[in-house]
This record gives sequence, structure tokens and C-alpha cells, in this order.
Amino acid sequence: MIQKTDTGSFDVVVIGGGIVGLSFANELAGSDFSVAVIERNELKAMTDEPDCRVSAINLSALKRYQQTGVLDSPLASRACAFEKMFVWDQTGAGQIEFDSAELGLPELGLIIENNVLQRMLLDNIQAADNISYLCPQEIIEIDYQPGHEKQHEGHVEGLAAATITLSSQQQLSARLLAGADGVNSKVREAGLIQRVKRPYQQQALVCNVATSESHQNTAWQCFMPSGPLAFLPLYNGWSSIVWSLDEDQAQQKMSLDANAFKAVLAEAGEYKLGEILETSQRFLFPLSHGHVTDYVRSGLALIGDAAHNIHPLAGQGANLGIADAFALADVIRDARKSGRQWAALHTLKKYQRQRKGANQLMEMSMTGFKELFGFDNAFISEIRNAGLSLVDHIPALKYRIIKQALGV
Ligand SMILES: Cc1cc2nc3c(=O)[nH]c(=O)nc-3n(C[C@H](O)[C@H](O)[C@H](O)COP(=O)(O)OP(=O)(O)OC[C@H]3O[C@@H](n4cnc5c(N)ncnc54)[C@H](O)[C@@H]3O)c2cc1C
Repeated sequence: MIQKTDTGSFDVVVIGGGIVGLSFANELAGSDFSVAVIERNELKAMTDEPDCRVSAINLSALKRYQQTGVLDSPLASRACAFEKMFVWDQTGAGQIEFDSAELGLPELGLIIENNVLQRMLLDNIQAADNISYLCPQEIIEIDYQPGHEKQHEGHVEGLAAATITLSSQQQLSARLLAGADGVNSKVREAGLIQRVKRPYQQQALVCNVATSESHQNTAWQCFMPSGPLAFLPLYNGWSSIVWSLDEDQAQQKMSLDANAFKAVLAEAGEYKLGEILETSQRFLFPLSHGHVTDYVRSGLALIGDAAHNIHPLAGQGANLGIADAFALADVIRDARKSGRQWAALHTLKKYQRQRKGANQLMEMSMTGFKELFGFDNAFISEIRNAGLSLVDHIPALKYRIIKQALGV
């Protein structure tokens, strides 16, 4: 446990030290905000083989990480830059290819293990005097007073919005409580914020594989009626598999022995990377999408999966959460700099205005994509395949799509 202050009174308390919570804290590192980050689990140790949870981090996030020195870490060598994306429809001839060279960019993004990115962010945060990282610590209680703003005609600077009791019995007070505590957010519950959740009745089967042919620093994505299958390039020639499947199919693939699974996987990926030589342990993640009604209350803000989560088919969930983290940090920093009430509802609503529409649009697009490619119907398949190939031949449209995904 690292603890830099014992006063227990902080400007900002961040619940959750996942990618999003740490990205937010990192933005405030070295600022005049006093910050505590509470995380339940110790960071997973790194091993020679890559971890199974990885994320494709877009250029917009990488630019900010560059500016704050996160990418200077020697651990950045564990990330794999991807230069191309190749997407195809298994039911026809439709395909589309995105190439960083055609966009005049050195890469389209980085694929990195979640625990490695978290370690890089944490190392940066630990170098700052204004941030305390409390881990492993569980939240026992959040006492949030939503009524205090009314009583005091605006969020008066210096007034705590929440008191948090930790498993160590330590109590912390926060002028801003930032909920980066994932899909089952306790901060969301404390703020009495509703979330509309829609399960997909699908699971993502995730593992890493070594293949007989190089991944060519390309993200490969195959759309099948049962769901998308992605091969994302990792360091040392490994690839990360994210295979979205109906629940019964996912269970069936989990029950296969290693050799049978390798054969099924190579065939599903149409041998684009040759034979599957090795596979790691397989994991299943239930898939759902959901969005909260409000991102903010007075002295309370939700970021990342605590506010919204989407289908992983385009690898955008973490990127949206990271963009939330940057936006919230910008809003409170600017407000404090100009002497405004930085944790007041009207200030935090600026953050909500910046992010909610963009996140909703991405959620709708992912659901639309999933449904479009989920049709096992010859007519729809023909239109879909023609559409993919058409977009591939209209550079302006094609690059508009990719630029949105890259966040540039
Ligand atoms: C299979 C799969 C593949 C994906 N691939 C990609 C991808 O390629 N690119 C991409 O952008 N996104 C991807 N995503 C989405 C991405 O993983 C999530 O959007 C992202 O991890 C959310 O980060 P977060 O920090 O908001 O939440 P989490 O990662 O859920 O972190 C929340 C943290 O809060 C902690 N916590 C929770 N409750 C408490 C508590 N009470 N007390 C203390 N600590 C607490 C947890 O321990 C955890 O560390 C994928 C998702 C899945 C399921």
C-alpha cells in the first residue's frame, strides 16, 4: 500500500484503479488537486507470456499518454503497434482494409495488456506528490450527501460531498467522488443514478495464440453470423483472440481440448494467420451494453464502464472511458484555474455534455453493427458484403470511419 497523506481529506477520491480511473488520476498528477485512488485488487504480475486481457488503445489516448510521459516507460516495449486493420464477412466476399500509411500515420494504435498499461500509469502516478494510491482496499460505505448543494446555494468550495469508509476502517472525505469502479459501480448506486442494461445473451471467449504465420502488425476481424472473431497483434508474435459467441456455443468451445480448439479457431479465422500452434488458457466474459441516465451529480461523476459499456467488437470501450477521464480532468482543472466551483453540478454537467452524446453514438453503432452482421440471411448478407466492398473503394467515407475509431 502506498499512502502519501494521512489527513483523510481529499479534493478528489477516485474509486477504481482500472485503466480509466488511473488515466484520470494520471491527468491530475502534479496538479494542485489532492487525490486518492482506491482499488480493491493488487495489479496482476507480468509474466513472459502476454496476459489475456488486452486493449486496442487509439491515437487520441496515445497522444495524451505521450504528453504526460506514460509512454516513456520501458514497459511500453510490451505494446504492439498495429499498422493495418483487415475486416471481412465470412458469409461473402465483402472486405475492407485500413492502412496507416494511406492516412500518413505511423500506426493505427497500440495493442497492450491491460495490466501493463495500468502499471505504466501507476508508475507515473507514484512519482507525483499529490496522489495517494490505496490498494488493496474495499469500499465498505459511501455516505454521499446529494442535498448539500441546495442547502449551500451551489457546491461551496471546501465542503465534502462524500465520506468513504474503507475495509481498513479508514475514512476519507471527498469534494469530488469519481466513480471509475466499472460495470457494477458502487458510486453509481450512492448517487442513485439509473443504468439501462441490455444483455446480448453472448459471451466473449478470450485467449492468446501463437500462429504459424506472422500477424503482420495487423488487427484481423472476421464477422460471422454467430458474432465477430478478432485476432489482435501482440508482442513476440502472439495474437489476442476475442471471439463473441452465443452462450451455448461459447460453452461448447470452452469444453474442447486444446488441439480441437486450435483446429476450430484456425478454420473460423479462415487460416489468415495459418495454423494455431499454441493457445493460452481460455476465459469467458459476459457481454452486455448499458448506459446511465446521468453521468454527474453535485460532487460526483462517473467515468468509463461505470457510466457506459459496449460490445467489444470494435475495441472501443476502454477508449471511450479514457476520453471521459481526459474530459473530466480538463473540466475541473479549467474551472479551478478560473476560480469557479469545480465540483459543482453546473461545472460537472459540462463534462456530461462533452461525453454523453459521443458515447451514446458509439453504443448505437456497435449494436447496429452486431445486429447487421448477426443476420444469417442470403439477401442481407449480399447487401452487407456489397456495402463493405463499396466502402473499401470510397476513400473519403472509409477514412471518415477509421478516423472516428482512432479518435483523430
Ligand atoms: C473481452 C473484452 C475485450 C475488450 N477489448 C477492448 C479493446 O480492445 N479496446 C477497448 O478500448 N476496450 C475493450 N474492452 C472494453 C474495456 O475492457 C473496458 O471498457 C475497460 O476495461 C473499462 O475500464 P474501467 O477502468 O472503466 O473499468 P474496469 O476495468 O472494470 O475497472 C474498474 C476497477 O475498479 C475496481 N473496483 C470496482 N469496485 C470497487 C470497489 N468497491 N472498491 C475498490 N475498487 C473497486 C476494480 O477492481 C477494477 O480495477 C473489452 C472488453 C471485453 C469484455
